[in-house]
Amino acid sequence: MTKYVYDFGEGDRTMASLLGGKGANLAEMTRLGLPVPPGFVISTQACRAYLATGTAPAGLAAEVDAHLHQLERATGRKLGQVDGPLLVAVRSGARFSMPGMMETVLNIGVTDDSVDGLAAWAGDRRLAWDSYRRLLQMFGQTVLGIDAGCFAGALRAAKDAKGVTGDLELDADDLRRLVGEFKAIIRERSGREFPQDPREQLELAIESVFASWNTDRARTYRRAERIPDDLGTAVNVCAMVFGNLAENSGTGVAFTRDPATGAPGVYGDYLANAQGEDVVAGIRNTLPLERLAQLQPAAYEQLTGIMRTLEGHYRDLCDVEFTIERGKLWMLQTRVGKRTAAAAFRIADALREEGLIDADEALRRVSGAQLAQLMFPRFTTDTASRPIATGVAASPGAAVGEVVFDAETAVRRAKAGVAVILVRRETNPDDLDGLIHARGVLTSRGGKTSHAAVVARGIGRTCVCGADSLDIDPVAGRFTTADGMVVVEGDIVSIDGTAGAVYLGEVEVVPSPVVEYFEGRQPGPYDQLVRAVDRIVAHADALGRLEVRANADTAADARRARRLGATGIGLCRTEHMFLGERRALVERLILAADAGDTAEREAALASLLPLQRQDFIDILAEMDGLPVTIRLLDPPLHEFLPDRTELTARVAAAKALGQAVEVPEKLLRSINRLHEQNPMLGMRGVRLGLVLPGLYEMQVRAIAEAATVELAAGGRPHVEIMIPLISDARELQIVAERARRVIDEVAAESGVRVPLRIGTMIELPRAALTAGRIAKTAEFFSFGTNDLTQTTWGFSRDDVEASFFPTYLDEQVFGSSPFETVDRDGVGRLIALAVAEGRATRPDLGLGVCGEHGGDPESIHFFHEVGLDYVSCSPFRVPVARLEAGRAVVGEQDRTTDNR
Ligand code: PEP
Ligand code: MG
Repeated sequence: MTKYVYDFGEGDRTMASLLGGKGANLAEMTRLGLPVPPGFVISTQACRAYLATGTAPAGLAAEVDAHLHQLERATGRKLGQVDGPLLVAVRSGARFSMPGMMETVLNIGVTDDSVDGLAAWAGDRRLAWDSYRRLLQMFGQTVLGIDAGCFAGALRAAKDAKGVTGDLELDADDLRRLVGEFKAIIRERSGREFPQDPREQLELAIESVFASWNTDRARTYRRAERIPDDLGTAVNVCAMVFGNLAENSGTGVAFTRDPATGAPGVYGDYLANAQGEDVVAGIRNTLPLERLAQLQPAAYEQLTGIMRTLEGHYRDLCDVEFTIERGKLWMLQTRVGKRTAAAAFRIADALREEGLIDADEALRRVSGAQLAQLMFPRFTTDTASRPIATGVAASPGAAVGEVVFDAETAVRRAKAGVAVILVRRETNPDDLDGLIHARGVLTSRGGKTSHAAVVARGIGRTCVCGADSLDIDPVAGRFTTADGMVVVEGDIVSIDGTAGAVYLGEVEVVPSPVVEYFEGRQPGPYDQLVRAVDRIVAHADALGRLEVRANADTAADARRARRLGATGIGLCRTEHMFLGERRALVERLILAADAGDTAEREAALASLLPLQRQDFIDILAEMDGLPVTIRLLDPPLHEFLPDRTELTARVAAAKALGQAVEVPEKLLRSINRLHEQNPMLGMRGVRLGLVLPGLYEMQVRAIAEAATVELAAGGRPHVEIMIPLISDARELQIVAERARRVIDEVAAESGVRVPLRIGTMIELPRAALTAGRIAKTAEFFSFGTNDLTQTTWGFSRDDVEASFFPTYLDEQVFGSSPFETVDRDGVGRLIALAVAEGRATRPDLGLGVCGEHGGDPESIHFFHEVGLDYVSCSPFRVPVARLEAGRAVVGEQDRTTDNR
């Protein structure tokens, strides 16, 4: 026979899946000899059986009887006995905490016959009738499904009739009358009498707690928290203790440390002469826990002693619920407490310092996501203002500034010292300068991987995107909210990229002390939080096997990345170097290539060469001694040309006005020729390098010459040339041969040969599948998981996130966006295969990843597992990646131990 019921004395904290978190911890406290009211737990297995069949499993009732008798023996009182009855509480408690989502019924055991006996035992008639009234209310709502409003209405009417506002002002006789009314409500609404058999009350309460696993709100909560639907809840049945017996009674909640800041010292709230729900419901003002020391010194001493015991035992922050009944302390609950990101770091470090945990365990206790939270500036308080719009929380942080509607104005205003928020329907590469100069960006279209979002995260700007209730009119210089509020250029808005909210006006922002520390700007001695972060990240660095490089395209980014602990650049995109003032040169190059005008093409390339060279010199200088992987041009050419529709209109307008149109017309012809239906799958990456003569050669020359200059200046350049979007070994072979020729030329001209490695991105499935052959030429692979994800799934990241991703997440096609966390089953297999086959060809093949996933905690663990050498991510994510690289090692050790 399956055992469904466990006495508190029979379980322990390891049994949370069977006994629920609350039950397992009550059992643990009982084992520790702490003052827990006697009770028992009905297992989640019983709940699952109930949910499967709609009835309690055979044998459960008999087991409950046996445990109830044991409880009666322990308390010396019987459920429902006429003089001083035992009352029990019936509480839900799933494996994972689902606060307030399921049901509780207190005071089971009060009946018409026992209420007077209860009054005599308590020496308090009011308490007895109040307990009965509460039982009827909870039982009516929970077990019989009667609308809560019926009971609340009757309670309100009773107070109105008496001319009072507080529940406490109702006396025993008022409550006795209310009991009569509540019983009538139950009769009318449910068509049955309130059961006067306490055992029946108990049975029905247990079943309704089982059933509350499947309420709509519980289901919604589980979906949001990714808690599986098939776990079921345990039910805790426990002798009632009363915090509302007298002034030397009370109830409270407490934490062994401050869960908000992690500061040491107990922390909590106490309410004298009250029951648990009163604390949570905020009916009366609670007292800080220290006041208990004066009110009830003995109970306070005992409580703080117990909290020390619990923290030592659980080796972590614990929270507790307790009740004091006539001076006697009872522990009603404990668990490892939830905490903020800051508290997680401080507590882990403090516990390590106190010798309760070791440094590896401290690392387990924090996460990259928590560190990321600590790195964003934030609004000082939960703002009282109401958001004027909400969108996708695409790049965290808090930014305040004047609204501007185009990149040019953003740059101009920023240069004049004004903080600006760039507001666009969506952004494109033309907006880059504006994004860099803005404090934040707000768009009405696109999701977490839209251009605005990706760039904003990359450069550490706050971004709210896809705020689709906003009607943005950049031409008129205004946007309109759903409520019809009009915000014009120059108005101040505050955007919260952590919550995805937009506010009108200025909400105060504070910088992150953790970033100030990483950036070396921490004034004076470190505060406790920064010290904790420093120690824990240092331990991660000591353990981590994966190196952490940064994606950086400018000297400023490179400098920042280095300060934040990057050990090189894993991806230096070169496309940004072809924008701005240089766009004219690129236009000239494209037109010449299109017209087959060799001399003009070479002239355009020649004017780009020194500019590119200087870009690389600046970056290499910043990263002296560390590897810098420079990727040759990747995006389709049309990205460097004016917008097709706009130019068509311009040419038509100019013609109509009889103006000269020769140059724009030529450009338009080229644009039309270059136009592609699917540019993402078109003429880009290595394809561009193969068909546009001289382009890659110019870039390789600029790189080789820059390295030569650096070497001559006493530097230690360590450059890698990376070819994008390879799908076949032959493509790489051709480009690499041409590159080597250029490198040889530069060596011959300068008399110095700088070591340069040539490798490729693996960002198309075919490249991954033919990696063994590609590795014959490639000296390193860098997985471009952005494109690899797009092309493996066959969807474009710019288009799908806002359209069908929400449905896919809801329907659990995937648990998180594959653009955020690497898809192990698909993309991950391609990576693992390419690693194995690449290394089989070339054992010393360098291996890294430079897609967005390089900064994602879960993905970093995967890259560690498949044996990459490094991850590369945006500079701002570098500390997070360092932490997770260390955590990946601890995680691996844990798995090895588990498997032993
Ligand atoms: C990638 O595809 O993962 C990558 C890093 O390249 P990009 O995002 O520039 O296409
Ligand atoms: Mg790519």
